[in-house]
Amino acid sequence: MIAILQINLNCCKVAQALMHQMVTEKSADFLIVSEYNKVDSNWHVDANNKAAIVNAKHAVITSTGTSEAGFRWISITGIRIYSCDWSPNTSLADFQDFFFRLERSIRLSTEDILLVGDFNVKYADWGSKTNYRRGKALSDMIHALGLLVYNKGNDPTFKTGSIIGVTFSSPGVAGSIVQASKSLRYLGVQIDSKLGFSEHAINASAKASIASQKLSRIMPNISAATARKRRLLGNVVHSLLLFGVPIWADCMCAKGTAEIAKVERKTAFRLTSAYCTVSTNVALVVVSMPPIDVLAKERLFIYTNKDDQVARGKTRDGTLESWQTRCDKPGPGRWTHRLIPSIAQWLNRKLGDVDFQLTQFFTGYGCFPEYLQRFGKLDSPECWYCGHDVDDVLNTIFDCDAWEIKRTRVNIMCGTTVTPENITKSCSKARVPGTQSQPSFTKSLRKRRTKRDGDKRLKSIKFS
Ligand SMILES: [Zn+2]
Repeated sequence: MIAILQINLNCCKVAQALMHQMVTEKSADFLIVSEYNKVDSNWHVDANNKAAIVNAKHAVITSTGTSEAGFRWISITGIRIYSCDWSPNTSLADFQDFFFRLERSIRLSTEDILLVGDFNVKYADWGSKTNYRRGKALSDMIHALGLLVYNKGNDPTFKTGSIIGVTFSSPGVAGSIVQASKSLRYLGVQIDSKLGFSEHAINASAKASIASQKLSRIMPNISAATARKRRLLGNVVHSLLLFGVPIWADCMCAKGTAEIAKVERKTAFRLTSAYCTVSTNVALVVVSMPPIDVLAKERLFIYTNKDDQVARGKTRDGTLESWQTRCDKPGPGRWTHRLIPSIAQWLNRKLGDVDFQLTQFFTGYGCFPEYLQRFGKLDSPECWYCGHDVDDVLNTIFDCDAWEIKRTRVNIMCGTTVTPENITKSCSKARVPGTQSQPSFTKSLRKRRTKRDGDKRLKSIKFS
């Protein structure tokens, strides 16, 4: 029995490399390829360099056809195999000429026919929802030649969701045809028919989600797990999500990206102990972990430049630049951006591990009357200590009279008046023995405030 694989590579170099691996795994004898990236030895290609038949095991071929525009054929053990590819961006006259030459070639054969390829035409006979004029012409030719259609169902054969890869054969070949599956797993990467890697993203996200839930049990909001330990555990989830990333980084579909983003968001909350209303980007900045799509691009860059040490040395700079550009855009997280204007400086700080209390300060989302009133948990955003109209994070940390003594002490220690704009710089300074850094000030302030608020806050907050 001869094993034949059919694939459209969309001129992708990585897809062609995977194809060779798949041939080995499936022990295929022949490959029928459309839109390949590069011709190799033992390839029989058409005159347009779009369609090819690959003799993977160097089997004995009884005869080969001439290289014509749009198709090429070979004969093996009584079957003539055609590989076809015709661009949709050609005139109707050119298309009719292609069909005329193809039909004449098939009619001259006395062997069974296996006609495979990418004709770029849609028609109901092979599952399309729309009927193209050229599709009708192909359907008419197939029926006139007595060939059978082997596409079943409505599964797309190309990443755009269209059904343009088709398979026809003589009735004598019918018993040998095996339908292809929607996706296949190779070396842990799930490759689907659209090359959108949605199946892979769903599988990887499910696995990472389970790991994230297990890690959540050892990372409650108030625990001994420091930010560094949390990041280490978070890297476990990221490693699962980024498996095989050089393959799919450039072509992950929107559905797959959304699946991965869900797990990334859940993990970011667990790492930062942030409120669930915080945006993912803000949480990732606070916990000092690059977004997963930025990391994916970084891993792809490392893979593609594996022999270029100079380029690889600049990888992290590119990642930070990309991340910084995203953070600089208007949108959620402006308070965090005011505190952390430079991602690079934030990542390189020597002090300031973020925990449950500090996350509230850096995100602005937490036990502040302004936040609680916004989400219907308090009636008024007024400060209970100084009477300020809006008691938000800015008032609590930088203005409120209740904390003036502690604030003055920190200002003297830092030699400057600490503001939202210079607090990250203060964090990055080395700690002076016996003194208190700004993060520990804000942390102790948050703890003390929570304690002093005590029963009053519990009575005031509306638990829903
Ligand atoms: Zn106040």
